[in-house]
Amino acid sequence: MTDLAFTPETRMLVDGELVDADSGKTFDNINPANEEVLGQVADASAVEMQRAIAGARRAFDTGDWATNKALRKRCLEQLHEALVTEAEALREELIAEVGSPRTVTYMAQLDGPLADALLYPARMIDEFPWDRDMGQSQMFGMTSERRVWKEPLGVVGAITPWNYPFEVTINKVGQILATGNTMVLKPAPDTPWNATRLGRLVAEKTDIPPGVFNVVTSSDHLVGEELTLSPDVDMISFTGSTVTGKRIMEKGAATLKRVFLELGGKSAQIVLDDADFPSVVPMASIVCMHAGQGCAMQTRLLLPRSRYDEGVELITAGMAHFPYGDPQDPANMMGPLISEKQRDRVLGYIAKGQEEGATLVVGGGRPEHLPKGWWVEPTLFTDVDNSMTIAREEIFGPVLTVIPYDDDEDAVRIANDSGYGLSGSVNSGSHERAINVARRIRTGSFSVNGGVWYGADMPYGGYKTSGIGRQNGIEGFEQHLETKIVAWLAS
Ligand code: NAD
Repeated sequence: MTDLAFTPETRMLVDGELVDADSGKTFDNINPANEEVLGQVADASAVEMQRAIAGARRAFDTGDWATNKALRKRCLEQLHEALVTEAEALREELIAEVGSPRTVTYMAQLDGPLADALLYPARMIDEFPWDRDMGQSQMFGMTSERRVWKEPLGVVGAITPWNYPFEVTINKVGQILATGNTMVLKPAPDTPWNATRLGRLVAEKTDIPPGVFNVVTSSDHLVGEELTLSPDVDMISFTGSTVTGKRIMEKGAATLKRVFLELGGKSAQIVLDDADFPSVVPMASIVCMHAGQGCAMQTRLLLPRSRYDEGVELITAGMAHFPYGDPQDPANMMGPLISEKQRDRVLGYIAKGQEEGATLVVGGGRPEHLPKGWWVEPTLFTDVDNSMTIAREEIFGPVLTVIPYDDDEDAVRIANDSGYGLSGSVNSGSHERAINVARRIRTGSFSVNGGVWYGADMPYGGYKTSGIGRQNGIEGFEQHLETKIVAWLAS
């Protein structure tokens, strides 16, 4: 077992109590960079999950959480403070259990969401129009005063992935709790400790009432499925694979669950022929950041045929020199894949790319100097046709595909020729030309000449099979609310 630079929480938070599994069972938390066992966490069964759901239900139905906005605001601010106090321990924890490069923790893995994921929705509690005055109406000979009230949905099941676990979780927590819902969090089994830490902080450092926030860890995905099946859960907020997203919808249909799904992507970076190639094209290697384990990664690089060779040369150099290795080393931008299963899945896609006739230019295998841990080299395929498997399916690894196009029209066509619609970008010497492309791309987020859309006030999500609904922003906030119309006779 490794010596840890932080103290992990191994217990769950179930209805206000920090508890082990009833059976006493635990499962291992493994460092993906070296395969060492970091420690253990409680391994729940459906019994503890049902207890958590019942606690969340009771807290919603009988407590004042759903109606007491001042309490909610204070609690979110307390939780923010508690997280800031433990930020350095959380950073070490994320590096160890996620295999995230230290550098990435200063961005979206930790510091980015820590800054605003709780404080933005806390502020919205004061600013949101909970009670909209619609004025009087004359109907059936009566004069009525009319209102639109916004009310919380009830109990939300939050199911999270392992790639940016804290980022995804804390953005869900902020919006679910600010809107007056109660919740059960079910983290990915690969990265449980950042979630159990959150449970401990809620229990020990905030006035959040028992049952409002629960964390249930399990090595069994089907324990999470209890959330999708339970009639006591009103909504599922899920981030993960499209396959699981579809299953959640299917299982939730029986109880007509509201679903928010943030799923996969196969986004395109379009480089127009008037772009500054030396500054833009090598940057496409950023797809390898955190080993490509990001849903918004731009894994298809679209280059104009007129400057194709020049572009390939530049991106080849970018990929060949992408800094990877020990996640603790701040020089590295890429660590390991999360698990052996994911490593093998990525290698399978690389083999498929070769079989289907793409040209393997950089990487393609396991790095010899890293025998322990689940590593794949930064990998570049050129001469890719958009119909190939590696251009259509989400690989979730450090793999970039380069696809040539004829003109702007063709670039837009190829970018949109995908089952996914999550993100993308365009680079051009002309802002107007770039904006014209941006308007035609069917994705939920898009960057023009390097613009950054990330932030808790920005409603992030996908078109097509990349998801349903939005995380964050006003749209995300509203998604956690019911709408009630009310009228009374005017006096
Ligand atoms: P997954 O979708 O299976 O797992 C994500 C979460 O869903 C985990 O917490 C898991 O325990 C839970 N889960 C799994 N089956 C469930 C079920 N039937 N009911 C309820 N919850 C369930 O993802 P994975 O298998 O860990 O990764 C596979 C692929 O998912 C990746 O290669 C990648 O393409 C994609 N992925 C996407 C994102 C994203 O941010 N969009 C994140 C992680 C993974």
